[in-house]
Amino acid sequence: TSAQIGVTGLAVMGRNLARNFARNGYTVAVHNRTVAKTNALVEEFGHEGSFVAAETAKEFVAALERPRRLVIMVKAGEPTDAVIQEFAPLLEPGDMIIDGGNAHFADTRRRERELRGQGIHFVGTGVSGGEEGALNGPSIMPGGSPESYESLGPMLEKISAKAADGAPCVTHVGPDGAGHFVKMVHNGIEYADMQLIGEAYQLLRDVAGYSPSQIADIFRTWNTGRLDSYLIEITAEVLSHVDAATGKPFVDVVEDRAEQKGTGRWTVQIALDLGVPVSGIAEAVFARSLSGHADLRAASRGLAGPTAQQLDEVDAAAFADRVEQALYASKIVSYTQGFHEITAGSDEYDWNIDLGAVASIWRGGCIIRAAFLDRIRAAYDTRPDLPSLLSDDTFAQEIAAAQDDWREVLVAATRQGVPTPGFSAALAYYDALRAERLPAALTQGQRDFFGAHTYRRTDREGSFHTLWGDDRSEVEA
Ligand code: NDP
Repeated sequence: TSAQIGVTGLAVMGRNLARNFARNGYTVAVHNRTVAKTNALVEEFGHEGSFVAAETAKEFVAALERPRRLVIMVKAGEPTDAVIQEFAPLLEPGDMIIDGGNAHFADTRRRERELRGQGIHFVGTGVSGGEEGALNGPSIMPGGSPESYESLGPMLEKISAKAADGAPCVTHVGPDGAGHFVKMVHNGIEYADMQLIGEAYQLLRDVAGYSPSQIADIFRTWNTGRLDSYLIEITAEVLSHVDAATGKPFVDVVEDRAEQKGTGRWTVQIALDLGVPVSGIAEAVFARSLSGHADLRAASRGLAGPTAQQLDEVDAAAFADRVEQALYASKIVSYTQGFHEITAGSDEYDWNIDLGAVASIWRGGCIIRAAFLDRIRAAYDTRPDLPSLLSDDTFAQEIAAAQDDWREVLVAATRQGVPTPGFSAALAYYDALRAERLPAALTQGQRDFFGAHTYRRTDREGSFHTLWGDDRSEVEA
């Protein structure tokens, strides 16, 4: 029998992806550097579908029908290059290598270029949803050539998650690195979403005085409204969990040092290169990093906070409603920033990414799946050239309705000394974008003063310089 698809790299993700293909009726060739894992997969799950176990790279390639579709699901970075080097010489023009790992899109662009010369389609593919998603339906973000999508698309559509309206959560995102770029930004938005939820939790606890289990109930209520999402749902689960050993809330026995694997950091690094202000995502990455500086935090613990008698009395229930408004408004800003980065990447690399389609395939399977994404899709479907999500009428109206509460929440946070870098950065972004005048004019004056960097005027064309050290007359530069 020849297999329609092969998966090499059978750790949690690869194994579950292979099972997903098999459960959907495809014959799947499976291969892993350590052969024991291949055998274990077939022994344990062979009954779920049709697998062909391959011990060697040669056997693996020989098991695949042509053109070959070969999925790599190994540790991102050098292992991916090692595996490509092992398989590429065994392949023929027209064959496809699908990299489903969390590769950096620049690596994907390089690999695609290198393999194109050999006639091999390299399909850098973002996969989101963790191991559960890989098995039952992930959100899939393939890049690569349109021809490769013609061949792969129907299979990916079959194994992908389905949105509430039944649409498969996969689309051809764009050429070469487009898929991995979009996956990267997805993860950046995920960091921001998690940070905002964390701040909401902290405020409900420290300002409103709710317990973790009460806050879990609040999140459950929010999850029936416009914040309906996987992350809100699991937040309630985590907050209501009680540690068996101590009987304390689970959140109170876990070390408060957040770890990260790097895709959030990439989102910010690339945003800096592209000149896109993703301040909310950046604050989320920095908040994780700050949490990890145990020594710095210990050394700072005695620093002064707000004086007790100035603290507000709050109506807890009313405050919780305000926090919901602040969370929702900040979330709109995070997505606005993330989609701006996708637009900038798409322009820089000529990817022609359909933003509505991206919102659509994030509706199911992935970590940021949310009812909210339907509305983002609708916004871009109505106006594909929307300059920013904030210029969509519906979102603008919602922020208009939320902003007073959003500001009040930040006033309370500031008075009580509760850090809210995500909420604050989001509001600063919103206020900066709507400002008639920014202090950037002063910045330009300073730059011209110390470095003769010149400036533009609001009333005339051209570049100008003021002779600051002389008679302060203006000259055309
Ligand atoms: P790991 O990232 O832990 O990778 C382990 C796999 O890589 C094993 O199959 C291992 O083979 C193989 N491998 C490592 N080095 C080499 C090498 N030099 N040559 C050949 N094979 C090698 O596995 P995961 O399943 O967690 O993730 C797979 C990919 O999917 C990663 O790129 C990850 O970033 C990405 N991803 C993971 C998600 C998750 O939730 N875990 C979600 C989305 C994407 P061996 O058994 O022989 O050691």
